[in-house]
This record gives sequence, C-alpha cells and structure tokens, in this order.
Amino acid sequence: MWIDGKAIAQLLRAHLRQEILSLHGRKPCLAAVLIGDNPASHLYVRSKMRACEEVGMLSRPYFFPEATSLQELTDTLALLREDPEVDGILVQLPLPAHLPPLTVAERIDPHKDVDAAHPIHLGKLLLGDPTGFVPCTPLGIQRLFMHLSLELSGKHVVIAGRSNIVGKPLALLLMQKQPFANATVTVVHSHSKQLKELVREADVLIAAIGSPHFFTKEMIRPGTIVIDVGQNKIPDATRKEGMRLVGDVDTLAVAEVASWITPVPGGVGPMTIAMLLENTLTAYRKSLRNLST
Ligand code: NAP
Repeated sequence: MWIDGKAIAQLLRAHLRQEILSLHGRKPCLAAVLIGDNPASHLYVRSKMRACEEVGMLSRPYFFPEATSLQELTDTLALLREDPEVDGILVQLPLPAHLPPLTVAERIDPHKDVDAAHPIHLGKLLLGDPTGFVPCTPLGIQRLFMHLSLELSGKHVVIAGRSNIVGKPLALLLMQKQPFANATVTVVHSHSKQLKELVREADVLIAAIGSPHFFTKEMIRPGTIVIDVGQNKIPDATRKEGMRLVGDVDTLAVAEVASWITPVPGGVGPMTIAMLLENTLTAYRKSLRNLST
C-alpha cells in the first residue's frame, strides 16, 4: 500500500495552521539561510518559505553568495540569535566546501536550531533526552509510522545511509525506548559487506543513500515496509525540464512486494517540511515560556 506523505503532511499542516491562527500577538518566524547558487537548494528554501506562509508563520530568507566567509556567516547567525522576532534558524545544506557543516552548526543558537544540526541536539537524542530538537527528516519518518499506527517495537529496521542529517539520527530515534520506536536497528553504508543479506532480512527498510533506483524488487522480502528518503534527479526526455525526481528505491516494482511504501516525490519530503514548521512552533512556544519566567 502507498504511504501518502503529502496527504499526511497536509493534515499536520492544517493542524499547525489552526494552532497558529489561535495565537495572540506576534507570529512564529523561521529564518532560512542559503549560501550559493545551488538551484535545488533555492527550490527547497522557497518551498519551505511557502510552507511557512501557508500555515500563517513568518519567514525570512537570507541569501548569500557562494564566497561568503565563515566569519560573515557567523555574524549573521549571531544577529539571528539575538533577534527576538526570530524563533527558528535553518541553514540550508549542502554548504560550499569552504564552510565546514559542523562548525556552522555549532554557531546556530541551539534554542532556535529547528533543523537540529547543533551537536547538543544529537547528543540529547543519543541520551534519550526529549528536550532537544529532532532532525526533521527522521522525525517526519517516525510520524509516518505513528500516523499509520505501524508499531516498530521489536522489528528489524535496516537503515541504508549514515549521514548526520538522516541515517544516524534516525537510527538513534528508532532505537529509543518509546512508542513507534523500540526497533532493532541496523545501519548499512558504502562499506557494508552484507548489505544485500541485511536488507533482505529487514522488516522495515529505510533507504537514504542518494543513489537512484538502487533497491530493486529482488532485494526486498515480501511484506517489508519500505521508506524511500532518496531524492535523485535523473534524465527524462519526456519532461519539460528534461529531468525527473526519483528515490533510492525502484518504487513501482518494489511496490508489488512491499506491504507499505512511500513514493518519491510525495513521501518523506513533505513530512520533512511539516516537521520543520512544527519544530519552529515549538521553538516559539519555548521562547515565550522563557520570557514569562
Ligand atoms: P549523504 O550525506 O550523501 O549520505 C549518503 C549515505 O549513503 C552515506 O552514509 C553513504 O555511505 C551511503 N551510501 C552511498 N552509496 C551507497 C551504496 N551504494 N551502498 C550503501 N551505502 C551507500 O546523503 P543524505 O544527506 O543522507 O541524503 C541521502 C538521500 O536522501 C539523498 O538522495 C538526499 O537528497 C535525500 N534526502 C531527502 C530528504 C527528504 O526530506 N526527502 C532529506 C534529506 C536527504 P558512506 O558513509 O560510507 O559514504
């Protein structure tokens, strides 16, 4: 069965909209910082801004040229840290090569770090401390399971990919002692020798490697839940833009054997944006509570 991430994200966004409409005074605000001219990044930031608008949040884009120095970026992040009108800060990845992602993440105010890039949030996730933010894509994937009442307790979840924004935090999240987690998690990556065997044993496969149609029908055991995080552009002469977006899974073929599967587009992507909005609202509420104490 298809998991309609777009529809689930729309429901969550409608709920957020109601909550934001009921707020008195200033509205939550997300600042999005983008460095460079990567067209995909511009598209992502624009869609995040649009999503803010749709739920009644404010958004502020900060576009910087590719050559922006670490000091210039640090200065902007310091201004955003002090700005009482800004609740959430997002630094769009990937960054140009001269800006180390971890150094940049450490310069984002953790209270406003709604993308959970700062090491403090990953540390809290590791320790099971719920006061940190959880990165948006892993959180969005867990919400899909929650929405469909797909319990993971005791299930073998195989995560392909070990990035700091998807694979690693997702593994930490799904092994937590909590509902819609409690999974036995295996993480595979480009050095894994038994990738095929492990994928074949999975109750749930989460594909996040960035390789188009890597996971084929033959690799998937019938009944597996398949979550496709990949977003890859491949040539397609039938499209006006000459390209189309596909996941890491050979979706149509795998859908014949999977019990549940997310499409690309329309699966994990919209959930990531919904979680960004939700984290921004949480940051807003926390900042109001801090002001009143
Ligand atoms: P990343 O930082 O490039 O990491 C890719 C991971 O996959 C690495 O751990 C890499 O292993 C592993 N890998 C690559 N090729 C492999 C192979 N042939 N076999 C096994 N493992 C392999 O990527 P990312 O940022 O996590 O993103 C992954 C994909 O998800 C991309 O397509 C990205 O566009 C997409 N994405 C989607 C969303 C969304 O909201 N839908 C959000 C974030 C990312 P090594 O560590 O050994 O190199």
